[in-house]
Amino acid sequence: MESRGTKRGAEKIEEAEPWNKLLPASSLPTDPALYVGPFPFYRRPSELGCFSLDAQRQYHGDARALRYYCPPPTNGQSPNFDLRDGYPDRYRPRDEEVQERLDHLLCWVLEHRGRLEGGPGWLAGAIVTWRGHLTKLLTTPYERQEGWQLAASRFQGTLYLSEVETPAARVQRLTRPPVLQELMYMGYKFEQYMCADKPGGSTDPSGEVNTNVAFCSVLRSRLGNHPLLFSGEVDCIDPQAPTTQPPTCYVELKTSKEMHSPGQRKSFYRRKLLKWWAQSFLPGVPNVVAGFRNPEGFVCSLKTFRTMEMFEYVRNDRDGWNPSVCMNFCAAFLSFAQNTVVQDDPRLVYLFSWEPGSPVTVSEHRDAPHAFLPTWYVEAMTQDLLSPPKTPSPKD
Ligand code: GDP
Ligand code: MG
Repeated sequence: MESRGTKRGAEKIEEAEPWNKLLPASSLPTDPALYVGPFPFYRRPSELGCFSLDAQRQYHGDARALRYYCPPPTNGQSPNFDLRDGYPDRYRPRDEEVQERLDHLLCWVLEHRGRLEGGPGWLAGAIVTWRGHLTKLLTTPYERQEGWQLAASRFQGTLYLSEVETPAARVQRLTRPPVLQELMYMGYKFEQYMCADKPGGSTDPSGEVNTNVAFCSVLRSRLGNHPLLFSGEVDCIDPQAPTTQPPTCYVELKTSKEMHSPGQRKSFYRRKLLKWWAQSFLPGVPNVVAGFRNPEGFVCSLKTFRTMEMFEYVRNDRDGWNPSVCMNFCAAFLSFAQNTVVQDDPRLVYLFSWEPGSPVTVSEHRDAPHAFLPTWYVEAMTQDLLSPPKTPSPKD
């Protein structure tokens, strides 16, 4: 366990009389004011590996789904990308009813557990999760709309965090208005206009948009005293980037509404840039390329936002966001989770729940439906302990 002597009240451990036993805190506040302070330590993320999901959502331990950044020529002309082209006939959306939890990431971990940098024992001290889950933690102090639930289990020392769809989010998904479904398609269509399948290749907007396909980078970092192993989907690599070393060569692609008034810009900087920053800062992706669409759904302008400069747009805004608050809250949540999930048991689950305007609360569960570490993973990892790998003898 980590040291508990921190200054913030958020991490304070209650003392229970008369046994003087340390009990974990029962809730965690999320007010931004509580997390103002210096930016915490965040290790420069390094890529440990990658994997791909194919058109049938099958796992492959390689970079076959990686695409190459291929922006239109900058010869004075504006782009004219029709984001609605192909909708819905050339759209193969992923089946969102399938709850994949951490499965694909665990597949990667299982395959690489014996040769992780950081040495033997590093994984036992780490937190394993998706980048997207960490993004939600980073933005929590400023989020006013959507709550979240994170399931947590400890197994062989490692703390695993896996999101659970809230009942409200499920209702929203199942009643998603047609315009929102089309907007989701448009985001993926933009990627197709901006990416080629091979370095130096050309784009092919005549093809299908299949959102089963994904390239995921697996990264190592550390926030404060929490070693992290997480994976995130990467849109493309820039073959022309100054360095070809991942994650520095990766590019995140986004679309947003064209802005015409100072009010629209201010709201973009306050809400959207926060989400873009959190998502790309975590894996160390340096650039986000935005396509701005007009009301007819055409992208007519592009702008590159440097992740490390996004905060400048809100630095002098009283109602803006602060990267230190985001990271300090995330660190406090990870400490809260580490201190709550004490028992090492893959069938025991702590469910952390948060709704805007309230603190994070926690409840305890066993087995279905919340247990999320699959039997194939638990059994393979347990076998390792029973029969440690033999060191090859000269005769082998
Ligand atoms: P993001 O940052 O929210 O895009 O999420 P990640 O990059 O951490 O994605 C991790 C994995 O979850 C990848 O395999 C994604 O394809 C998948 N994923 C991302 N968003 C969703 C979603 O809304 N629903 C489902 N089922 N999977 C998703
Ligand atoms: Mg994207």
